[in-house]
Amino acid sequence: MRFYRATTFLFPHSYERRILFFCFGAVHVPLIACVVLQAATGHWAFSTLLTLLLATLAGTIMGMAAIHALLTPVREATTMLQAIQLGERIDAVPQGGSDLVGRLLDSVTKAANETAARIETLTDAAERDPLTGIRNRRGFLDSAEQALRARTNAVLALIDIDHFKRINDEFGHAVGDTVLKSLATRIEDHLRRSDIAARWGGEEFAVLLPDTNLDEARLVMERLRATVALDTRLGIEDRPVTFSCGLASVRGFTHLGEATKQADAALYAAKNAGRNQVHVLGL
Ligand code: GH3
Ligand code: MG
Ligand code: MG
Repeated sequence: MRFYRATTFLFPHSYERRILFFCFGAVHVPLIACVVLQAATGHWAFSTLLTLLLATLAGTIMGMAAIHALLTPVREATTMLQAIQLGERIDAVPQGGSDLVGRLLDSVTKAANETAARIETLTDAAERDPLTGIRNRRGFLDSAEQALRARTNAVLALIDIDHFKRINDEFGHAVGDTVLKSLATRIEDHLRRSDIAARWGGEEFAVLLPDTNLDEARLVMERLRATVALDTRLGIEDRPVTFSCGLASVRGFTHLGEATKQADAALYAAKNAGRNQVHVLGL
């Protein structure tokens, strides 16, 4: 380390150039020694000098090319470590031998895999609702952004359990939690793989149905509403749980905020109209 630190003044931003500099110097030692010797003795042998000069030149070119090539894995490992720091995914890390560079590449691969796994775990924890196991609002928005990038024709459904406070009051918070978990499972089971469901907060859920129009979405949610209303295994024996639902069309991710307001207004209308129903504002 001492020599490394002592030589940092030479090309402080390029480790490779520093190595090449020393390689250049070392290769020229025999030539310089020959010139000094011939100058001291006064016996100039130009053919020897020319041969040595050409050999030095060839040695310099070959040495520098080899060092440049040998340093490639170090350069790649450095670039990959920078990418890992920026949170980018590393798809293919080159494999090295059992030498120092091979061990460096192995370490980079390990760091890349461990970082990716840790980021995945953290993202999952940050985007999942711990009670129901489905997405939380953040996870919903993240998935919705991706889903709405390519598609424009989607519907947002906001679901709110009817009189949920009464369930908590009558049967206790733990039973309320079971109802939330069961409903989350019912919602997910009822949807297509491309649909996105989330716990929006409290006893509210949000569903994004991509590539769907309002009529189709209404049918889907109406079927879910009827299934849930008839289900007696949602957490409370012989006591059905119902929900109200508001629908709104979504025209791209930037329109999601406005669509949420509309779906919320439709949900409010469904509540006012007696609950246990699906509403679309203006219909
Ligand atoms: P409405 O039909 O008008 O929607 O009436 P509601 O009783 O469902 O609505 P309200 O907003 O009055 O009550 C929602 C209740 O949901 C109140 C809150 O204690 C309960 N809640 C919110 N989060 C949780 C949770 O994680 N677990 C349980 N058990 N209850 C929750
Ligand atoms: Mg509510
Ligand atoms: Mg409610």
